[in-house]
Amino acid sequence: MAKSKADILGIHVDALTMSEAVECIKGFIETRDPALIATANAEMIMRATYDQELKMILNDAALVVPDGAGTVWAAHHLGHVMPERVAGYDLAQELMREAPHKGYRIFFFGAAPGVAEKAKKKAEKLYAGIEIVGVRNGFFTEKDEPEILREIQAASPDILFAALGVPKQEKWLAAHLHELSIPVSMGVGGTLDVMAGVMKRAPRWMQKAKLEWLFRGALQPKRAGRLMALPRFVCKVMAYKKSRQRNGARL
Ligand code: UDP
Repeated sequence: MAKSKADILGIHVDALTMSEAVECIKGFIETRDPALIATANAEMIMRATYDQELKMILNDAALVVPDGAGTVWAAHHLGHVMPERVAGYDLAQELMREAPHKGYRIFFFGAAPGVAEKAKKKAEKLYAGIEIVGVRNGFFTEKDEPEILREIQAASPDILFAALGVPKQEKWLAAHLHELSIPVSMGVGGTLDVMAGVMKRAPRWMQKAKLEWLFRGALQPKRAGRLMALPRFVCKVMAYKKSRQRNGARL
């Protein structure tokens, strides 16, 4: 599928809808080449402006979906087509909804001990017949890694959801992508926490009003500092547009 990309602060974000993203990922599972999927919100893009490793990973990824109102706004502001927000949580749910019909095997890797097990129970309740072929918490040291890799390989999933937070999940997945040889590996942040009921997602009206970021900041005071990433992101995108206009670059 030909996809157009939006350059947002040097990060190439795919311009597609939720259903196109799902179709694209189904294609990756069919071809079975290891594909890394990232869900780029404003915070991740901001981080990639100073974290070169993350930037390279994102620009090499098979798919970078526009996660969040900030990313969609930035794409539009820079003159790109960006049909809709494709939230990582929602994309993971769509893939799980398809899984029983397609026979996709899924592995949950990440979050605090016990959370992935609870998320597995929830997935089994929501998506009858789903095969969650393994779970593993996301707190480990370097010496645990060989065992984790063996555990994931032995489960032989089609989709690996890694919930280790940004940028740890993207870096871990990129480092082990070929060794694991799983068709689809995707960083999913707080998805397992939300599924397990450890963390709440913003109410629908707040999601619709594009205020999910505010809800998360208010709910987790330790995230409050991270809220500053948003106004900084807006300023940076505006400056990026100006500098590109000055340089006569095509937007
Ligand atoms: N986490 C983990 N290992 C770590 C650090 C974090 O498994 O070493 C988990 C954490 O328990 C949570 C998720 O990663 O379930 C990060 O969620 P958050 O909402 O902070 O994601 P982000 O906003 O970074 O995408």
